[in-house]
Amino acid sequence: MTTSLDLLPGDPRAALLVIDMQYDFMPGGALAVAEGDALVPLVNRLGAQFRNVVITQDWHPAGHISFASSHAGRSPFDSITLPYGAQTLWPDHCVQGTQGARLHADLVIDHAQLILRKGCNAGIDSYSAFVEADRSTQTGLAGYLKERGIDSVFVVGLALDFCVAWSALDARAAGFNTWVIEDACKAIDLNGSLDKAWQDLTAAGVVRIDSADVTR
Ligand SMILES: [Zn+2]
Repeated sequence: MTTSLDLLPGDPRAALLVIDMQYDFMPGGALAVAEGDALVPLVNRLGAQFRNVVITQDWHPAGHISFASSHAGRSPFDSITLPYGAQTLWPDHCVQGTQGARLHADLVIDHAQLILRKGCNAGIDSYSAFVEADRSTQTGLAGYLKERGIDSVFVVGLALDFCVAWSALDARAAGFNTWVIEDACKAIDLNGSLDKAWQDLTAAGVVRIDSADVTR
């Protein structure tokens, strides 16, 4: 799908959100997304186009509530109900300070001003860069962007159907013009999660584009 943009990536009102380009989400990692590492060169090229770049980093304490290992008798990819709602359980991943939690070394966007760490609360997951999974605890990102005069965000990274989608939906809900650059994302696609994500994104008014729409 091609959509003409009414602002250029270098516009001071626009920001690129680079979601979770960490070793645990890359092939060989604890929660690998197929071909996740193949995105790095494209994300670097996109990053160079934007004046404003925010990089997120999933950053869990050991024993985090989203880990299957924290729940007796549960396995990764089970779904359970927590006080804040449904939670998919994952393999242990992106534990604070571990190699798997590091950003991919080939991700080079040196002018990025903010690296936002999320999922730091032991008892609350956070797919979204804006609002944690209890749907009320704010990360502060909406305020950071708005205070800097940014009203438009472009979202790329991993994984399209979880952290990218939730971040884009919350960006839209917070009032930002929001695009997802499809070919700069990879999905997990668990039980139809990718189709569901696109349905939700489209319904919310998030615009689906390709990197060619931004870089041309
Ligand atoms: Zn996580």
